[in-house]
Amino acid sequence: MKQFKVAVIAGDGIGPEVINEGVKVLNKVAELDSGFQFDFTYFPWGSEFYAKNGKMMDDNGIEQLKEFDAIYLGAVGFPGVPDHISLWDLLLKIRKNFDQYVNIRPVKLLKGAQLPLVDVKREDINMLFIRENSEGEYSGAGEWLFKGKEHEVVLQNSVFSRKGTERIIRYAFETAKKEGRTLTSISKANALNYSMVFWDQVFDEVSLEYPEVETASYLVDAAAMLMIKDPKRFEVVVTSNLFGDILTDLGAALAGGIGLAAGANINPERNYPSMFEPIHGSAPDIAGKGIANPLATIWSASQMLDFFGYEMYGKVVLEAIEQLLLEGDVLTSDMKGTGSTSEVGDRVTEIIKYIM
Ligand code: ATP
Ligand code: MG
Repeated sequence: MKQFKVAVIAGDGIGPEVINEGVKVLNKVAELDSGFQFDFTYFPWGSEFYAKNGKMMDDNGIEQLKEFDAIYLGAVGFPGVPDHISLWDLLLKIRKNFDQYVNIRPVKLLKGAQLPLVDVKREDINMLFIRENSEGEYSGAGEWLFKGKEHEVVLQNSVFSRKGTERIIRYAFETAKKEGRTLTSISKANALNYSMVFWDQVFDEVSLEYPEVETASYLVDAAAMLMIKDPKRFEVVVTSNLFGDILTDLGAALAGGIGLAAGANINPERNYPSMFEPIHGSAPDIAGKGIANPLATIWSASQMLDFFGYEMYGKVVLEAIEQLLLEGDVLTSDMKGTGSTSEVGDRVTEIIKYIM
C-alpha cells in the first residue's frame, strides 16, 4: 500500500484545532480507499516553542522536513512574538528552502457559501490565483540606511530574477492551458518602472509559446476594483508575491470569508515537500474556544490530495464542503452557525463517507 509521509506543523492559536479536522478528513479518505495511507508526524514548532527555545523551529528543522512528501501547516504566530519573526523563521524559511515558488489560491464561491455584497452570480466567482512565492517584493533584501529620527531612510528591495519570473509565469500558462481557461497577469508597470516593466515583458514573451491561451493584463489597482465589480473577468490569474498576497485576501472576502480560504505552496519539480495551509492566521481572539472554522484547512487537504495525484478525492472533499454549506446546519459562528470546530469536521467526514 502507498504511504504518504506528511509532516504536521499544527502551530499556534487555532492552528492545532483546525489541523485536527483536516487530519480527520484525510484519514477518512484514506480509510475509504484501500490503496494508500497517510503517515503523520507532528512537530511542536511555533510561538510556544519560540518562547522556550528562542527560535520557531529546530536548527536542523529543514533537514528533518526534507524526507516528507508534504507539510500540513495550521498557523503560526501569536501575541508576544513579533510577526516578522514568526513569518521569517518558519513559514518563509520553509517556502524558500524547499523552493515552493508557486502559491496556489482558489477564489471560488462554493455552492451554499454566502454571496458577497455585490451584484454577481455565484458562478462568476471562480478564480485560481497563482502567486509568485519565492522572491519579488518579499525578497527580504533591504537596508536601514540612516538611523536617527529625522534622517531615517529605509530601503526594501524587490528582486525579480529572469528565472524566478519566467518559471511562475510559465507555470500559470501551463495551468490555464490544462484547464482551458484564460490567463490574466496583474502588474503595475506605470509606477514600478523596473520590476513590473520586466514582469510584463516576460509575460509577453512566454505568451508567444502558448498561442492557445487567451490572455489579459491589468494594473493591480484596476484589478482590485474589477474583482469586486466584474469578477467573472478573472479565471487563472498570475501575480507577484505582494500583489498576490493582498488580492487573495480580497478574494477570500469574495469567496465566503477567511474561514474558507485555502492555499498551497508548491515545489512543482517535486525535489522538496510542498506545503498546504489555510491562508488565515492563528486568530488568538478565538483560540481555545473550539469555534474556529476548519473549512479552509479542509480545503487545503483537498489541494494536497490533488497534488498527490488523487484529484478524484480532492473533488470529493470539496463537494463535501459544498454539501455542508448547502445543508447549513453545522457551521461555525463566522458563518452565522452555532457548530463547533470538531462538529464541522465530523459532518464533513460523514458526508465524504456518503459520497464515496
Ligand atoms: P496572524 O498574525 O497569525 O496572521 P492575524 O490576527 O493577522 O493572525 P488571522 O488570524 O488570519 O489574522 O485572522 C483575523 C481574524 O479573523 C481573527 O482574529 C479571527 O477573528 C478571524 N478568523 C481567522 N481565521 C478564522 C477561522 N478559521 N475561523 C473563524 N474566524 C477566523
Ligand atoms: Mg495575519
